[in-house]
Amino acid sequence: MARRASAAAPDTAKTPTQVDAAVIGAGPSGMAMALLLARHGFRTALIAPGAMADDDRTTALLESSVEMLRTLDLWAAIEPHTAALRHMRIVDGTGRLIRAPEVVFDASELELPAFGYNIENRDLNRELAKACADEPDLLRIEARLASLTPLADRAELTTDTGETIVARLAVGADGRNSPVRAAAGIAVKDWRYPQSALVLTLEHGVPHHNHSTEFHTPSGPFTLVPLKGRKSSLVCVVSPEDADYLAALDDAALAVELERRSASVLGKMTVVGKRQIYPLGGLTARTVAANRCALVGEAAHVFPPIGAQGLNLGLRDVAALGEVLVAARRRGEDIGSNGALQAYERARRPDIATRTTAVDLLNRSLLSDLLPVQALRSVGLYLAGRIPPLRRLMMREGIAPVMARPRLMRGLSLR
Ligand SMILES: Cc1cc2nc3c(=O)[nH]c(=O)nc-3n(C[C@H](O)[C@H](O)[C@H](O)COP(=O)(O)OP(=O)(O)OC[C@H]3O[C@@H](n4cnc5c(N)ncnc54)[C@H](O)[C@@H]3O)c2cc1C
Repeated sequence: MARRASAAAPDTAKTPTQVDAAVIGAGPSGMAMALLLARHGFRTALIAPGAMADDDRTTALLESSVEMLRTLDLWAAIEPHTAALRHMRIVDGTGRLIRAPEVVFDASELELPAFGYNIENRDLNRELAKACADEPDLLRIEARLASLTPLADRAELTTDTGETIVARLAVGADGRNSPVRAAAGIAVKDWRYPQSALVLTLEHGVPHHNHSTEFHTPSGPFTLVPLKGRKSSLVCVVSPEDADYLAALDDAALAVELERRSASVLGKMTVVGKRQIYPLGGLTARTVAANRCALVGEAAHVFPPIGAQGLNLGLRDVAALGEVLVAARRRGEDIGSNGALQAYERARRPDIATRTTAVDLLNRSLLSDLLPVQALRSVGLYLAGRIPPLRRLMMREGIAPVMARPRLMRGLSLR
């Protein structure tokens, strides 16, 4: 059932609902965006089917994202479901001629209690959905977007349940196949990698001590990230054939094989929950804003699950767009105007471009058989292990770009 907030409820099904912003998509980016806007006084509608309950992935929310969730008063409900990531260990498991030494990054070197916190997506989505349902100024429309028409002074939207919504701005948080992006006429660049990620949750005999461990293998990273208790999530990037082979093993055989591939760092393993396979690819929207539409999260950028970057980048979109819109309103500007949209594009382009390139290079450097490429990656890790200022710079930049952190990620309010 759609829940309607008081402010903008229409008298009849035929009366268009008028809002400042319509957010399309109730993944984590869309729910965070809708909450941010509603809590900053924008009349906001969140249009999407019910929150996804079957997502068995986990997300490492890095410190900057946690800071934003804290500032929005969302962290207290989310934190009890998380495990802290205090140490990150990178192990060169390529077996190649030139190998990097093991490097351990420790959050205490940045005077932080943790780099971030890992959470199961279904817990994150459930807590965000609860916050949306409890937000009095948020209009939740449980429906799919059917059409979106950008006009000079507004965007007109219809849903598959026959409602019409008129908004100053439409925010596409509707994932990698974004209908909002298509309606705004925004082109994309997309590509594929010869890899798939096998994703599952493991219980293990040895405690993880809040260490995440990433083995760099010739087919991609094999990453164990702590969950609450003696559990870790696994993202195992391999060839599509190897992913199918692993997924077809029974639980006991798979557990033995994963323990072997992880050099028994977590002792005896047990597979819990479903196995999911994600073919790896990337996508970048040519612009994040045009024609009364702004894109956040995977509607704007997709890349492989390496270094816990995807949703953290998406939440930076959310924080930056919120900042741009509050500033535009303060100046008395239309929040869907070209000026506001261009300010958002300027705020986000460098971060999106550098993250996409960094993740792409790291992934390709693992796949490459070229000695110079292997040498470059190994030397980079060697230097990071040896030179503390370089190591600290890499850790800080890994969390979020220091130069382009939105206010909400620095603990500052937008008011
Ligand atoms: C294996 C794996 C591990 C990952 N681990 C991490 C990690 O550790 N850290 C990290 O930061 N990121 C990680 N990521 C990336 C992260 O999962 C994504 O960036 C994130 O889930 C994207 O969220 P989103 O809200 O942008 O999009 P989605 O979660 O895809 O949400 C899109 C929403 O739009 C809705 N929608 C679509 N069409 C319509 C329509 N017509 N009308 C209305 N609604 C519509 C959908 O129903 C959906 O709810 C990982 C990704 C993978 C594959």
